[in-house]
Amino acid sequence: MENIYLDNAATTKVAPEVFDEMKDYFSLEYANPSSAYKFAGQISAKVEEARAVIAKMIGAKTREIYFTGGGSESDNWAIKGVADALRAKGNHIITTKIEHHAVLHTCEYLEKNGFEVTYIDVDEEGFVKPEVFEAAIRPETILASVMFANNEIGTIEPIAELGRIAHEHGVVFHTDAVQAFGHENIDVNEMNIDLMSASGHKLHGPKGVGFLYVRNGIKITNLIHGGAQERGRRAGTTNAAGIIGLGKAAELAQQNMEANRKYESELRDKLIERVLAEIPYAVLNGPRTQRLSNNANFCFRFIEGESLLILLDMKGICASSGSACTSGSLDPSHVLLAIGRPHEIAHGSLRLTLSAETTEEEINYTVDTLKQIVERLRSMSPLYEDFVKNNK
Ligand SMILES: *Cc1c(COP(=O)(O)O)cnc(C)c1O
Repeated sequence: MENIYLDNAATTKVAPEVFDEMKDYFSLEYANPSSAYKFAGQISAKVEEARAVIAKMIGAKTREIYFTGGGSESDNWAIKGVADALRAKGNHIITTKIEHHAVLHTCEYLEKNGFEVTYIDVDEEGFVKPEVFEAAIRPETILASVMFANNEIGTIEPIAELGRIAHEHGVVFHTDAVQAFGHENIDVNEMNIDLMSASGHKLHGPKGVGFLYVRNGIKITNLIHGGAQERGRRAGTTNAAGIIGLGKAAELAQQNMEANRKYESELRDKLIERVLAEIPYAVLNGPRTQRLSNNANFCFRFIEGESLLILLDMKGICASSGSACTSGSLDPSHVLLAIGRPHEIAHGSLRLTLSAETTEEEINYTVDTLKQIVERLRSMSPLYEDFVKNNK
């Protein structure tokens, strides 16, 4: 079998329809959309069309969507921008221990600049408990940032409830929806969301483009200073091709959302069931329900995640241990530590994330291969040998 791509949480393939839609905007229709001549008008209209598609999808107004350079920029802007704008009101921010580093490192940066941040705990499946969230709110809390769905273990947070609590206390509510946008139904009004980050390349759109939803009336300082693009709030020549691609990807994701979720979650459940039934001492990280339809994440005791990935790679399987940004470092995943996995187990994790193109044959091959690899690695582990002896 050729390449089996099971790392769709790290990035996705650009859909052919998306690429087709983008193609003309590089060397045919290449004008700067901000220019006044007719040659720019068509492109500018296409950019606005993309904005309208996205706004409609999440129940927002068109002018509440600001295009950015991706998920990390959107997270940085939301958090730094609101913190700065509301500085006079308070200096306390709430987030969780399982956020993406784009949120965590931004909060750590703010801590060095006079803000206080509470990183709240999650339960053993990765859920933020509303009562824990509420207890963290102080009179000086200005902003809370809780991810819509976790990129490592797939947990979908009770965003509507958390947003409601935030608003009851006058706290601005941001969610990093990079893993959820295009995969889950989102309504910013029903879910009490004030700011929301998303990124094109997690939904079969291009890399380096995303958006930040900013509810009308929310105070936010600019992050990127310069020209007057994006209604004066995000400078930089408009990434027309990227935005048009993102708009097309969003449209396709919306059309296929129910079918994709059904297909992916059935395949994911087969994967989970086979792994848990056929590989001893394997545990699932994250919940069985309320989970991203394409995400499975396991720990295998006595196994090093890195060796597992290398051996899977040799068999043509692209997987990851936690997040793409964490791999390469030897630190165990902060998400697995937060759900209470001990260090030695958190090191042996494997994340497999599917797409609508993943086949049952690929999943079966992956489980068969995984079984052999785990067996082989354990057969070389003195710790495993002792463990088996002592547990006889
Ligand atoms: C991928 C990801 C990001 C970063 O998005 P980029 O567009 O790659 O900068 C942020 N948050 C989450 C949850 C992600 O999965």
